[in-house]
Amino acid sequence: MEVRPGDRIKWKEPVFRGTYRRAQFVGERTVTGVVTNHWYEMETGYHWFTIQVQASEGVDPLPAGKKIRRRGKNVYFGLLEHELDPSREREAPPPPGGKFLPQRTCTRCGAAGANAERLCKVCWEAVKRGEA
Ligand SMILES: [Zn+2]
Repeated sequence: MEVRPGDRIKWKEPVFRGTYRRAQFVGERTVTGVVTNHWYEMETGYHWFTIQVQASEGVDPLPAGKKIRRRGKNVYFGLLEHELDPSREREAPPPPGGKFLPQRTCTRCGAAGANAERLCKVCWEAVKRGEA
């Protein structure tokens, strides 16, 4: 099930210290928060979430109330809990899965034209149906 604004999620993520170029992995933290926005970046097709932190534990925990941005794939990768917004429209159409760029190759079938998750339209639909 896709994560969408209004949903409450808990995920685990790696924590790094140091500069971007010399980042050092120092441990993990869990974050619980409510998704306030999501969008696809035009240039890259990357899926992003804005999340308002409710609680955080572990290394360098984040303060409650802070709004953070996370790449969609990182949130899904570490996802521990996902509570749907009760008012969420269940019959809403599926999301586009990002922009399908012709220079990207699908890692599942090798076809040209893949999104940020490196899947073509056909494979993206299949994976969403659980046929991964
Ligand atoms: Zn494919």
